[in-house]
Amino acid sequence: MNPSSLPGHPFIAYQSGALCVEQVRLSELARTHGTPLFVYSKAAMLSALAAYQRGFAGRKAQICYAMKANSTLGVLQVFAQAGCGFDIVSGGELARVLAAGGDPAKVIFSGVGKTRTEMQQALQAGIGCFNVESAAELDVLNKVAESMGQQACVSLRVNPNVDPKTHPYISTGLKGSKFGVAHEQAVNFYQHAARLRGLKVVGIDCHIGSQITEVTPFLDATDRMLDLVTQIEAAGVPIHHIDFGGGLGINYNGDTPPEADALWAQLLAKLDARGFGDRQLMIEPGRSLVGNSGVCLSEVLFLKPGEQKNFCIIDAAMNDLPRPAMYQAYHHIIPVHPRDGAAEVFDVVGPICESGDWIGRDRALNVQPGDVLAVLSAGAYCMSMSSNYNTRGRAAEVLVDGDQVHLIRERESVLDTFKLEHLPI
Ligand SMILES: *Cc1c(COP(=O)(O)O)cnc(C)c1O
Repeated sequence: MNPSSLPGHPFIAYQSGALCVEQVRLSELARTHGTPLFVYSKAAMLSALAAYQRGFAGRKAQICYAMKANSTLGVLQVFAQAGCGFDIVSGGELARVLAAGGDPAKVIFSGVGKTRTEMQQALQAGIGCFNVESAAELDVLNKVAESMGQQACVSLRVNPNVDPKTHPYISTGLKGSKFGVAHEQAVNFYQHAARLRGLKVVGIDCHIGSQITEVTPFLDATDRMLDLVTQIEAAGVPIHHIDFGGGLGINYNGDTPPEADALWAQLLAKLDARGFGDRQLMIEPGRSLVGNSGVCLSEVLFLKPGEQKNFCIIDAAMNDLPRPAMYQAYHHIIPVHPRDGAAEVFDVVGPICESGDWIGRDRALNVQPGDVLAVLSAGAYCMSMSSNYNTRGRAAEVLVDGDQVHLIRERESVLDTFKLEHLPI
């Protein structure tokens, strides 16, 4: 890898004083495509995927990219061409998979609130598995499938009651969470599902949270899930695949999550030790496949010195980069062309009329209006969570592949933002 690359960002590096993604200068991209602009490295995505593929070498395993992390068609195509399946959470995401050339047989459908229409669409497309999250959903899915003369393959999402030690909003596997079915009820629900003629039980799944940086919660959840598989099979319902969900964290600010291949070496050792090593395995990584593959470029509009704080006002905002406002999340912010001289401390903020519209707090920067900044770790849960708040069109996105640049999403115009609206008179 490039020796001057940024820690955790192997394909993003300063080359002769200019920040580059692979072989492309970011200042040039900002000039050509404007700002705010998301820039993704294809090599970074494939290298993140390769860590999982190495971890599963020689195993029966299906990697399903949890596409809510970044659902842009151009990103999905990269993963589809690399053989990935997809973890979807809506009919809209299914349509995107199909439009990007993904294989519907490798799609799993998660989420607590699937509508009948979405179930029908997914059955029609021939998806691989529904990850069902409640008894009520089992019954509705059974009826929908029967009415179409089909059988829906199902896995039950169980709640292992394990604390992933992450932000409460992205912690999903504890008692009191809206997700999954309680561990204690799982055997009953499986026996019920096995009796329904519109359903075919194929697996079990869990997903305990996101941005997990330790191995222990994964190991604990695995133990809990394997205990259940033993009980469910003793009750007469065979389980063909075991799906471990996603949740592996990335390095935002010195975080030290395990590498995917190292994590899987430990999880597979446990599966082997407990006699489950030859099962079909599934995983649903999102953030760890795309998060550190992307940056968001933004231009400095104004510097505003203050008595208590200095503000650096940039043209990207919480509608483009919602994670700081939503989770008090940290993103590194660095200049694409560093200047010589002393830095000052700024709060980096966007133009939106909310005090929550900050991108970074207390950052030492040496910048002038017109400079371009790169917000790092912007590949996951940024564009896919973006909005039009303050009637701001969504940013453009480009995919870099070596020295090639592909515009994968055009900048949204203001007209686009209100084209579905009607004046009442
Ligand atoms: C969000 C989600 C994932 C992906 O989580 P990451 O932390 O991005 O890896 C996987 N499975 C389910 C069910 C999810 O809701």
